[in-house]
Amino acid sequence: MSYRLSKRSLSKLVGVHPVLAFAVMEAIKDTKVDFGVTEGIRTIQRQRELVELGYSKTMNSYHLYGLAVDLVPWIDGNFRWDNKKAFKEIETAMNRVISKYNLPIQNGFRLWGWDRPHWQMSGYRGKYDIRKLKTKGLIC
Ligand SMILES: [Zn+2]
Repeated sequence: MSYRLSKRSLSKLVGVHPVLAFAVMEAIKDTKVDFGVTEGIRTIQRQRELVELGYSKTMNSYHLYGLAVDLVPWIDGNFRWDNKKAFKEIETAMNRVISKYNLPIQNGFRLWGWDRPHWQMSGYRGKYDIRKLKTKGLIC
């Protein structure tokens, strides 16, 4: 069984860093569970909303720069935020692509122990912070 991204998921990849979008499009081809892209690039208003709701903890999210996506299992016509096993399948598919092409992408759960749906471009802090480079147009 091979899955495809829905139009809604594809539309969420617009404005996302091409390396990250590529990884998602490769991962959907050999994942054991279907998944969707629930968040790609985010507006500052949307970020504020998520912080107020407690779903995000930062106003400097990689989502604001198109450097992150959230991938959630799609089972029987619903997003399943509670299905840890399904998230692990997404992780397996993503990690396979990441290591195959040696992509600089990290998972939120690996980074800070929560936020399983979250995948972001690896970045440095300080002067070489990928978010600042993106703002300056030094990376695509
Ligand atoms: Zn996220």
